[in-house]
Amino acid sequence: MKRDVRDSPPDPFTPRVRAAITRRLLPWFRRNARDLPWRRRRTPYSILVSELMLQQTRVEQVIPYFRRFLRRFPTLRALAAADESDVLKVWEGLGYYARPRNLLRLARRLMAERGGRFPRTYDELRGLPGVGPYTAAALGSLAFGLDLPLSDGNVRRVLARMFALDEPRRERLDAECREIAAKLLPRGRAAAFNEALMELSATVCAPKRPRCDLCPLREVCRARAAGAPERYPRRRPRKPLPHLVVGAAVTLDSRGRALIARRKSEGLLGGLWEFPGGKIEPGETMEQCIARELREEMGIEIAVGERLTVVRHAYSHFTIELHAHFARRTAGRPRRLHCADFAWVPIARLRDYAFSRADLHIVEALEARLARKGD
Ligand code: SF4
Repeated sequence: MKRDVRDSPPDPFTPRVRAAITRRLLPWFRRNARDLPWRRRRTPYSILVSELMLQQTRVEQVIPYFRRFLRRFPTLRALAAADESDVLKVWEGLGYYARPRNLLRLARRLMAERGGRFPRTYDELRGLPGVGPYTAAALGSLAFGLDLPLSDGNVRRVLARMFALDEPRRERLDAECREIAAKLLPRGRAAAFNEALMELSATVCAPKRPRCDLCPLREVCRARAAGAPERYPRRRPRKPLPHLVVGAAVTLDSRGRALIARRKSEGLLGGLWEFPGGKIEPGETMEQCIARELREEMGIEIAVGERLTVVRHAYSHFTIELHAHFARRTAGRPRRLHCADFAWVPIARLRDYAFSRADLHIVEALEARLARKGD
């Protein structure tokens, strides 16, 4: 039965209730913390890698990536010495590729300017490549014990429920939550408190069907008292994502090698390899689109042949429908007009290169086609 928020427990801002929150949350965390690989051997570097991987990504998906990354680049020094393409290869499939590129820049900068040591103030951490307010606060509190509150989407959900925050505007809600998180933070215990709050949001205060009966904060939670935890935070209706229709050429030479191109470092999927192509223009056929894109991107003429596959993929801000067609070069030599690099690669070696998920589907389709031919 829904009750009114006025039936709520005592004001959670009083010192007594704030202390009660810490008293309940920290022992709960000690008893219930999951055994996650980044909690075993902690260094500022491993904390940073895990925090960057975990943003907008599920823990189960991150675990194998984290292990692989730390095996391949166990220290900041090892990472700083790596090639961008090797770093992207290990990150391949995890998405948000600006993160590994920035991580590499950060490692190189810290090695060159600070002998591999991280700075220990919020402002200096914030000045590192790819380190935004959340990452700086996570690194500062978890690695160096700085009294910095955290507020990401998960923590916001817990706080919006505990305090029945009805603010629909994301920026306002974020500001409110940061203020509340700062007030709740027990001085000198930021690392444990922040991590406990994140663990609670991940394992108990889930977006759907929160397990309030198991929650250490149930006595002070206003949304629970009102019988409507899922009402908070207020969700705005999602705008439909833009949908892009894209063509890509699988150009094979007489030795059966495929032509691939590396995207420029900046921007979406920067630094990754792809089957060259691009967005279809109004009035174009798919074949015309692919031929035009190869002319513009690499300066070659191609004859576009049969379709290999169509890949449908959702990115965070748009969806694509990627039509991959076989092609044959008819004139010109590839040049780096709108790509960072290109290569003719035997199909069996394509997996040595870092591709986006959508392009990996093309690799799979190509391998499957060859396997059928070989039967
Ligand atoms: S009592 Fe329920 S809604 Fe409130 S913080 Fe705990 S799990 Fe979330």
